[in-house]
Amino acid sequence: MGIIAESIMAYAQPLLEDTDGSIEEMQKGMALAQVCWNLAIMPDEERPAAIESLRESLSLSDAEIEEMRETLFSPMISRHKEMFPLMHQPKSRNSSDWISRLSSIPSANSDDRQPPKPGRYDPCPCNSGKKYKFCCERKSRPR
Ligand SMILES: [Zn+2]
Repeated sequence: MGIIAESIMAYAQPLLEDTDGSIEEMQKGMALAQVCWNLAIMPDEERPAAIESLRESLSLSDAEIEEMRETLFSPMISRHKEMFPLMHQPKSRNSSDWISRLSSIPSANSDDRQPPKPGRYDPCPCNSGKKYKFCCERKSRPR
């Protein structure tokens, strides 16, 4: 088992202890632990939206998700902070800043797809061997 899976197993312990020990219940416990793990490592400001989308995908009522937040998410997030303090240092914030900055870079195929216009005395892009000025620039000029 990998180090991550082992960490999640250790982290999931209180959830697994609650089960009747059947494989089905254990898998459910592990799945819940992974949800809590993901909630724990995301930035605080993204957590409400993540919990809301979880509520929608499980079609839970507000009261049900609120109960989960109190009895499951909050204690499990605290447990994560205690068990893996290194993953909660302010430093790790930088990585998400970095990612958000990345996504603000305009993509290569945004509005202008035109290749840059060649200089007038550069070789013509049509590979005629002539200077652009005396080849395609002239052809593209309205008469
Ligand atoms: Zn040309």
